Amino acid sequence: MKILITEFMDAPAVDQLRAAHDVTYDPQLVDDLPRLVREAPQCDAIIVRNRTRVRGDLLAALTRCKVVGRLGVGLDNIDVQACETRGIRVIPATGANAHSVAEYVIATAMLLLRGAYASTADVAAGRWPRSALSQGRELAGKTLGLIGFGSIGQLTARLARALGMQVMAFDPAMADNAPPFAELGVSPAQLDHLLAGADVVSLHIPLIESTRNFIDKRRLAAMKPGAILVNTARGGIVDEHAVATALRTGQLGGAALDVFAEEPLALAPHFEGCPNLILTPHIGGLTIESNERVSSLVASKVLEALA
Ligand code: NAD
Repeated sequence: MKILITEFMDAPAVDQLRAAHDVTYDPQLVDDLPRLVREAPQCDAIIVRNRTRVRGDLLAALTRCKVVGRLGVGLDNIDVQACETRGIRVIPATGANAHSVAEYVIATAMLLLRGAYASTADVAAGRWPRSALSQGRELAGKTLGLIGFGSIGQLTARLARALGMQVMAFDPAMADNAPPFAELGVSPAQLDHLLAGADVVSLHIPLIESTRNFIDKRRLAAMKPGAILVNTARGGIVDEHAVATALRTGQLGGAALDVFAEEPLALAPHFEGCPNLILTPHIGGLTIESNERVSSLVASKVLEALA
């Protein structure tokens, strides 16, 4: 059978697929929609990351496709309902990049709370900004507020607890007595309580209509003054302009944004010169280890689905 891979996939996993099927692997295909649409009708399976939009023209051209493998977790680039209607299975790499994302949250939270690690140039130049950098905060004893308590939220809680943080989580789909709360020592919380009490707020929810602009000016103002915001979930969930303003006024003590409403992010003057801001190009889930796990999981599941 024919498998089309439109974005980067780890080589051993591609070889695993090649051993059983006719594979076209072209990580540049995602940027050539006309060619992608020409190749699509022949394929029995398509494997994508987050940039290939499996909807509209491409979906219409997937006439014999049985399965969409997603090298990641978020499904906002795939019209899942339309796939289901056409009998196409959508297979995400659930859990396989969770550890990379959870470590990103802990690392940026530590960095931003401490605020002392950007001193290399000063120290090397013989300046000694010791007193200016002596007011950093520890992570231990602080409260982490998780918005969304699914697989990444829970793993982040596990790491945070191990470092001595208190953790609360808001997830309306989970009952207060759902086992993960007690197992991980996490308190279920209402959103307003979480925003008012957390020193670090981290988002782990999908981008759907009800979560668009979820963290807006009003909710930023409801956060504890000086708190840290981490968004590894999806752009569009956070109002980026409002975050920039809250950083400048000091309402936010720091922010790490890995995802943006428009990706790649174009020139963003609102972020220029913003204090205590970490911007990364959607790499929260991307590490050598997670790439291997994600690719091999999706390869195995696609092979199973085509068997
Ligand atoms: P998951 O499906 O396991 O968990 C999501 C949780 O959010 C669910 O428990 C759900 O009930 C909850 N939720 C939904 N709407 C909510 C709302 N309005 N308020 C509070 N909770 C709500 O997903 P996951 O694997 O934990 O991933 C979370 C998100 O992280 C994904 O949707 C994806 O967009 C993102 N992600 C980003 C990267 C990256 O590289 N930055 C990598 C992986 C995943």
